[in-house]
Amino acid sequence: MGRYTGPACRLCRREGIKLYLKAERCYSEKCALERKPYIPGQHGRGRRGKPSEYGSQLREKQKAKRIYGILERQFRNYFEKAERQPGITGENLLALLERRLDNVVYRLGFAGSRPEARQLITHGHFLLNGRKVNIPSILVKVGDVIQVKEKSMESAKFKELQAQAAYKTPPEWLEVNADNLSGRVLALPRRDQIDAPIDEHLIVELYSR
Ligand code: SF4
Repeated sequence: MGRYTGPACRLCRREGIKLYLKAERCYSEKCALERKPYIPGQHGRGRRGKPSEYGSQLREKQKAKRIYGILERQFRNYFEKAERQPGITGENLLALLERRLDNVVYRLGFAGSRPEARQLITHGHFLLNGRKVNIPSILVKVGDVIQVKEKSMESAKFKELQAQAAYKTPPEWLEVNADNLSGRVLALPRRDQIDAPIDEHLIVELYSR
């Protein structure tokens, strides 16, 4: 599946919120949104006013896609899958996005951002239930165990992440063991356990037009 390869900070500036796509930089004064808090482009500073109903719905969808690093076709597939599941479509959609392996690695604290998690996975640094995995879009299930490969644990990168993981608290549906950089899926995520700043109702409304 494709992914956006342009400048990450531009996406935050377009959405007007921090999407945390750049690990440490997002928490520093170098954050582009803090230095240039307006829409990118020639007329960015002049664009104000209340967006239309369609505009709000579109922005919410774009924001969700950008937070999870997904392009339109794949996002639409998640939506269609969410619609087929029992329950509330918007909540199902967010739960599917949260269950992506790259998101889980990020939530466990084994990467500084979702894009970084995605890269570490494609470079083969993780095991899923003891087997090597390099597909960031895999959806985890209850009981799945995610672990950093033993060899990778020796690298400076993972030693640093290990030190940081010890101070991070994962969401309730995940359990982390910072000693060996492993994590387990305890349950599927509920809406109140997903802290992504997304109003999923607007996305459902958009696709229902
Ligand atoms: Fe977004 Fe991080 Fe760039 Fe700030 S530094 S604009 S939060 S990606």
